[in-house]
Amino acid sequence: MSGILAQFSLVGRVAIVTGASRGLGAAMALGLAEAGADVVLVARGDMTSLQEKITALGRRALPVAVDIADADAPELIMQATLGAFGRADILVNNAGIIRRANFLEFTDQDWREVMDVNLNAAFRLSQHFCRPLVAAGQPGKIINIASMLSFQGGVRVASYTAAKSALNGLTKLMANELAAQRINVNAIAPGYMATDNTEALRADASRNEAILQRIPAARWGTPDDLKGAVVFLASPAADYLHGHTLAVDGGWLAR
Ligand code: NAP
Repeated sequence: MSGILAQFSLVGRVAIVTGASRGLGAAMALGLAEAGADVVLVARGDMTSLQEKITALGRRALPVAVDIADADAPELIMQATLGAFGRADILVNNAGIIRRANFLEFTDQDWREVMDVNLNAAFRLSQHFCRPLVAAGQPGKIINIASMLSFQGGVRVASYTAAKSALNGLTKLMANELAAQRINVNAIAPGYMATDNTEALRADASRNEAILQRIPAARWGTPDDLKGAVVFLASPAADYLHGHTLAVDGGWLAR
């Protein structure tokens, strides 16, 4: 491979993907491995079959079973990564949960748990990921998984909208502070993707129809739709991209 396509190669890179046990995270982890990276898979659930798929590609996969909201999770993840591979070049902050309730009934617990997983964990893991890179003067890539609700308000998802909107701002703040250290911080905002996260919406016939009517591409996104975007943002082809949130949304935001 030569020329521009070589710039999309991740051979020799190590990527950490949180929330890799299913859905978008599993597909992005596989996409990064298909582009050549070894991958650290972070989640609480079983990741054996993904690990096998990555190994079958000739890449290494290291499952790290932690609750990302635990205080010691960032340290455990970085220790496991550096212990196994000796380096970490790419971080995808993807782990996320959603809670649905009317604003007036929204509980403190549903507020706190979503903020802990979707925002606070990304903040803390990014710090732990960046410190050794900055100390060694090495480049890196951080990709935060944002949402349409980084731009819009939504309904019945107060903590999710707050966390994803904050993650969008944090992406820009981190880009501003880290760009000169050759660490690119960007985000992907998936549109409406068919995963467990959106199962309730798809099961509700009228919500499902209303959502489909508004998507110019006229279909729900699939986890595989994110592979190209994550590989691009993780690769040298994106070396001059900083603080951008790339919508992969079938045109939803353009509507
Ligand atoms: P999903 O299918 O529900 O998967 C969520 C992933 O996050 C799982 O791997 C889960 O693993 C992990 N996770 C959740 N809580 C965790 C915790 N405390 N510790 C470690 N891992 C945890 O969701 P998805 O649709 O793929 O969503 C992935 C990301 O994309 C989320 O940030 C979500 O907000 C965002 N997003 C999704 C959509 C969509 O339409 N689906 C749209 C926009 C943005 P375990 O349960 O095994 O721990």
